[in-house]
Amino acid sequence: MLIDTYGRVATDLRVSLTDRCNLRCTYCMPEEGLQWLAKPDLLTDDEIVRLITIAVRDLGIEEVRFTGGEPLLRPGLVGIVERVARLTPRPQMSLTTNGIGLARTATALRDAGLDRVNVSLDTLRPDVFQALTRRKRHDDVLRGLEAARAAGLTPVKVNTVLMPGLNDDEAPDLLAWAIENDYELRFIEQMPLDAQHGWKRDGMITAGDILASLRTRFELTAEGQEARGAAPAERWTVDGGPHRVGVIASVTRPFCRACDRTRLTADGQVRTCLFATEETDLRAALRSDAPDAEIGRIWKQAMWGKKAGSGLDDPSFLQPERPMSAIGG
Ligand code: SAM
Ligand code: SF4
Repeated sequence: MLIDTYGRVATDLRVSLTDRCNLRCTYCMPEEGLQWLAKPDLLTDDEIVRLITIAVRDLGIEEVRFTGGEPLLRPGLVGIVERVARLTPRPQMSLTTNGIGLARTATALRDAGLDRVNVSLDTLRPDVFQALTRRKRHDDVLRGLEAARAAGLTPVKVNTVLMPGLNDDEAPDLLAWAIENDYELRFIEQMPLDAQHGWKRDGMITAGDILASLRTRFELTAEGQEARGAAPAERWTVDGGPHRVGVIASVTRPFCRACDRTRLTADGQVRTCLFATEETDLRAALRSDAPDAEIGRIWKQAMWGKKAGSGLDDPSFLQPERPMSAIGG
């Protein structure tokens, strides 16, 4: 299995399928986009499936999450999901997406074996959506969410980042809307992973701010640590239940001690943490015809070197070179 020196075991694999995106969220990418990875540098569909197979069959991975960039932009996505669904043991499979194009693909993805989706949506206001993402696609995201729910990709989770002066007044409205539509809302604290290095600790909306804002309209009851397990989100039941809301407080209440994740970038690098400054090259091993056992060994060795925490609370913290969109959030 994938174990580190602190005794943590990775059972959750996040696979980035592309670094490209059709939105330009201000907390993630600059307006002009980024220098995308060159096609020959990207793992092929076969290479991705081979690495996931090794992870699931030999290394104890139980859950695979596809992400990016925007994973729906990867032409082979449905085929990859279909092949991973045939693995034994069959892993749980989910997708983190901005929802654009999901209205078209939700049923095919469900039929291929996808279990769930997380759709990112930060606002209910089309003008604010445009300011946050620099694109007029609010309607597409709402349609994608509805299609995911109709296709049974449930529970449909909605990821929201609050930005000061833009959507930080929307937390209660978003929760009321999520409850009405049967989506599970999770707020994510803004992290220093934007390509522009514009993150400021002083300016960010914290979990404390989010909870205070929600409590102006809802009664929240904390779920215990046991219910949380290794999940990054702390959860609260809303007005006595059954609906819940989550907060992923990576900055102000980090959960590194319970982390169960390993990550694979679209160009075949293993990362043990979103904030890691080191990567391990599995693509080179793949392309030099290394056997599965050797690739597994390299992956285990990478995991063994996982640091205790993100280092965010350390004054000497350095933002990783790769932005969120190229790591896979
Ligand atoms: N494009 C897809 C999407 O937006 O869902 C998948 C990739 S995106 C990098 C994954 C998640 O990371 C999204 O929910 C997004 O809101 C979040 N994210 C991106 N940049 C972030 C940042 N600087 N801090 C916190 N969350 C961020
Ligand atoms: Fe694209 Fe997701 Fe980044 Fe927004 S957060 S720019 S949708 S990768």
